[in-house]
Amino acid sequence: MDMMTKIYDKTMLAGQNAVVTGASRGIGYAVATALAEVGANVAIVDYCDEEISGKAAETLAAETGVTVKAYRCDVSSYEETEATVKQILSDFGSIEILVNNAGITKDGLLAQMTEEQFSRVVGINLGGTFNMTRHVTRAMMRKRYGRIVNLASVAGITGNAGQVNYSASKAGVIGVTKSVAKELASRGITANAIAPGFVATDMTKDIPDDAPLKQQIPLGRIAEPAEVAALAVFLCSPAASYITGEVIRIDGGLAM
Ligand code: NAP
Repeated sequence: MDMMTKIYDKTMLAGQNAVVTGASRGIGYAVATALAEVGANVAIVDYCDEEISGKAAETLAAETGVTVKAYRCDVSSYEETEATVKQILSDFGSIEILVNNAGITKDGLLAQMTEEQFSRVVGINLGGTFNMTRHVTRAMMRKRYGRIVNLASVAGITGNAGQVNYSASKAGVIGVTKSVAKELASRGITANAIAPGFVATDMTKDIPDDAPLKQQIPLGRIAEPAEVAALAVFLCSPAASYITGEVIRIDGGLAM
C-alpha cells in the first residue's frame, strides 16, 4: 500500500483535476503521484522533451488508474501558460487544484551574479507562479472553488548566501501566496506555500553531504520528495479547508 492511501481514502480527490508544474521529476513528480494516488486526475506541465513528460504521465496513469496528461510549456511565458491552461480546461473540463512547483537555481555570489542569472530564476520561479495562477484562477473563480499550493523555500524566509536570485524569487512566491489568499478567499479558493529545506532531487544532488547547512539539520537528514508531497496533498484535502495564506516549513527543523 502506498503512503497516501495509508492516510487517506483513495477516492478522496476523485473527480478533481490537478495541474502540477515541473512534474516530470523531483518534488513535482512526487506531488503528481500523491495526488493521483488519492484519485485526482493530473495535468503535468513541464519544459522538458515531450517524450520524457509523456512517459512520466503514462507511468503514473498506469500505476494509479486516473487520467494523466503531459503538456510542454515554459511557465515563464505568459502566452504559453495562457494557451496551456486553455488546452487543459478543454481536455479536463475544470481545474480544482494548482501546484506551482516548477523552479530552477542559478547560484552565485552577488558580486558575480549576472542580470540574466537573476532574471531567469525570478522569471521562472516567481513569474511562472504568477502566470499559472493568473490563468487558472479565472476558471476556479467561476466554480467558486480552488486549492493553490506554491513551492517556496526556506531560502525565501531566511535568505541564503549565493542565492540572491533564488531567495528573492521564493520570498516573492510567499508574497503572491498571501495576496492571492486574501483576494480569493471569498471565492472559495485557498492559497498556501510550502517552504522545504533540502530535498533529495536533481536540484540538490551536487551539494556535498558535509556542506555546513546540511549538517545543521536537527533531524539529521534531507527530505524525500514524498514527504513534501504528503504536505501538498494535506493542503488539498478537506482537512485543510480552513487554512489559507499559510507558509509551512518542511525542513527537518533547519530554519526554526
Ligand atoms: P528539479 O528536480 O530540478 O525539477 C524541477 C522541475 O521544474 C523539472 O521538472 C523542470 O523541468 C521544471 N521546470 C524548470 N524550468 C521550467 C520552466 N521554465 N517551465 C516549466 N517547467 C520548468 O527540482 P525540485 O528539487 O523537484 O524542486 C521543485 C520545487 O521545489 C522548485 O520550485 C524548488 O525551488 C523547490 N524547492 C526545492 C528544494 C530542494 O531541496 N530540492 C528545496 C526548497 C524548494 P525539466 O525537466 O524540463 O527541466
